[in-house]
Amino acid sequence: MEVDLALLDRTLADLGQPRFRARQVWTWAAKGAAGYHEMTDLPASVRRELADRVPFSTLEVEQETRSKDGTLKVLLRTHDGRKIETVLMRYRDGRGSICLSSQVGCALTCTFCATGRMKFARNLTSGEILDQALHFRRQTDVTNVIFMGMGEPMMNLDNVLAASRLLPDLGITHRRTAISTVGWIPGIDRLTDVDMPIRLALSLHAADEDLRSAIMPVNDRYPLADVLAACERFYAVKKRQVFIEYVMLDGINDQPHHAKELAAVLDPTIYKVNLIPYNPTDSIYDGSARETIGAFRDVLEAKGLRATIRLTRGQDIDAACGQLAVKAGAEAA
Ligand code: SAH
Repeated sequence: MEVDLALLDRTLADLGQPRFRARQVWTWAAKGAAGYHEMTDLPASVRRELADRVPFSTLEVEQETRSKDGTLKVLLRTHDGRKIETVLMRYRDGRGSICLSSQVGCALTCTFCATGRMKFARNLTSGEILDQALHFRRQTDVTNVIFMGMGEPMMNLDNVLAASRLLPDLGITHRRTAISTVGWIPGIDRLTDVDMPIRLALSLHAADEDLRSAIMPVNDRYPLADVLAACERFYAVKKRQVFIEYVMLDGINDQPHHAKELAAVLDPTIYKVNLIPYNPTDSIYDGSARETIGAFRDVLEAKGLRATIRLTRGQDIDAACGQLAVKAGAEAA
């Protein structure tokens, strides 16, 4: 849950309970309690009343799917019937990484992204964001969060930051929380000034301004040169490397000269590049061949940039980023 904290406070006051009860409830929830009945240091009568009066989660589970590689995808339903998806990737080293959604649909129209073809419906509340993470916390240890599900987190930054503030209670430190953005400069600037050491990831996709505008129209509003200047301010203040996400689109942005252009605008001390194999959705694009991606990486590395090729996980269950809630999403939009 993020229990509706205001409702929880009111209900506890109504029941004549001391103020520390709310904190007790949250501590249980953050550690993965499945419901009020597990909160054994609360009087049984209080547990019963809370179960009747304060919904334990803002979200209902509609469907859960497990990939062959262990990736879990859950389709969640909000109180107003919206569908959102959240993914948990488990790694052998024990990390459990959650990909969170920040909005229902997306107002931006990146041409390769399935969410970008949905209409924007609304921002998620901080409770709805936290409840996605709590869903998985109830099943397993979780260590990392990346805001890379549906939506543009920088356009719902108040709620994203409010949720992030509480993630350490679930075991996810701010250093292991990352926000991925199309390059929404006001949001990057706010993240630079915020007191939490949250990581920044930039979806770049093309170093050439015209090509980038064709792939992601938001580049007309916030051109890459200005976005990179904002990332560099972030680095100067936070001393944390910025991750570049670069989705590999066959014949569009994946040629050696594209790699050279990319290397020319990225300072290797500030940036690290993550090349993302494209998951074909119903778009006009195909994914680049494996050898093409490898050659692209080699060009970047020859220029001194650190570059990795992202493992594709959960492909068999459509759990790849940008595919989230597409199938269910048509109804949600
Ligand atoms: N709006 C934010 C957060 C959404 S995550 C942002 O754009 O960063 C978006 C990420 O998902 C992008 O970096 C993009 O590379 C990736 N993505 C979207 N659709 C994809 C697809 N079909 N295949 C692979 N990656 C995709």
